[in-house]
Amino acid sequence: MNVTRFLFACALMTAQAGVWADLAVTHVNILTMEQATVLADQTVLVRGRKIVAIGPANELSVPEGVQLIDGRGHFLMPGLTDAHVHVDPDGGRDLLFYLANGVTTVISLRGDERFLALREKLLPDDAAGPRLFSCGPFARDIFDIETGVETVRHIAAAGYDCVKFYGDWDAGAFVAATATARELGLLSVGHAPRNHDFDLIEASQLRALAHLEETVYADPALNAWLDTYRGRGDEPAAYSDPGRALGQRIESIAQRVAASGVWVIPTNIVIDAYLKRFTDAFESFSRRPYLQYLDPATRAEWHDNRGHGRAARFHQQFRLQQLMLQAFYKAGVPMALGTDASQAARLSVMPGWSVHEELQLAVDAGIPAFDALKMATTNAARLFKRENEGVIRAGARADLLLLRTNPLEDITNTRDIAGVVRAGHWWSRSVLDARLASLQEREDNTASAP
Ligand SMILES: [Zn+2]
Repeated sequence: MNVTRFLFACALMTAQAGVWADLAVTHVNILTMEQATVLADQTVLVRGRKIVAIGPANELSVPEGVQLIDGRGHFLMPGLTDAHVHVDPDGGRDLLFYLANGVTTVISLRGDERFLALREKLLPDDAAGPRLFSCGPFARDIFDIETGVETVRHIAAAGYDCVKFYGDWDAGAFVAATATARELGLLSVGHAPRNHDFDLIEASQLRALAHLEETVYADPALNAWLDTYRGRGDEPAAYSDPGRALGQRIESIAQRVAASGVWVIPTNIVIDAYLKRFTDAFESFSRRPYLQYLDPATRAEWHDNRGHGRAARFHQQFRLQQLMLQAFYKAGVPMALGTDASQAARLSVMPGWSVHEELQLAVDAGIPAFDALKMATTNAARLFKRENEGVIRAGARADLLLLRTNPLEDITNTRDIAGVVRAGHWWSRSVLDARLASLQEREDNTASAP
């Protein structure tokens, strides 16, 4: 059925069948993420946790009794995914941080039974947090094929969504274990085993690298260059440009990663945040408004370790990784957005807000805004083989982000959130803000209790 006929049929059904939608976002500009353009003045109908119809606002009638969200002047795009996080298994504040930032799905790369329970807790449509996928315990330091294969089988049988590879591995065991994950339909994400070079990733069936820096560590030339900055103070003017020193090397790595078919979840924000924390930039970094939600113990720890004067290597690693991100993009490496955020923000990466910052880094690296947004929407869905997500179309999951301004014009507009639809449930900005404020109040009360 073509689109026009489909929309006509939808309109007819609407008129005939009465209430068949629960929620409507009307007169809104839509960024479907299937094309890099905005469709003006549309209406989106949602039923349960699915989008059931989209059409020009003056053609698609809205049934009586549905919850109406006036989208006039606003921009609707799919909710965001952070494909590399570490949530608090006991259901901490980070869950709200994600939701309040329009992050409707997260993938926790390390888990145990508590994460499976949390995944259940987050299943209801009105849960105040993102949908959770969880990897099992790390599959790490394995040196025989049988153990490698059994470990992956156990993780799959226990009901986890993915397996995270970590540590040193025997090559045969790594190849067999990643092949088992593929066979079982279990997403495999990992660090590259540090006792091998990139050959092993090429030989394996690993689906995604958990950090772009894995490709740095797997390359002797890049490592040797970074090591010349080890232990040096922060004096950026004295540093050489990695592009000039390593341009061809970066190029050939990008080609190789692209040819291998492995996905990359860059997480460049981790290096950026470390850099800011350990240099003079700390003062301005620590004044970011969202850091009011940082727990006091972490805040104190950040303050004690600030500007320790050994930032040269971070500085150069960040520049190198940004160049590599650009090269990977140009080479066509499939990438999903991830930030390695954790509840206590141990890596100086704040859950939820981190996604917008990583989007900014992708754009800074030369990736067009639309393609950066794809990393957090359609690509993330592809990584997880959930084709009917991360897009706005009839039949897709109703995880949506309502923005006041156009994210294609300025990537920082993804922070300009008017509301979030999570599994069909509407969260307005004022409700999200009230929830954040009450978190803060509780914290203040705890802190001032005798
Ligand atoms: Zn991690």
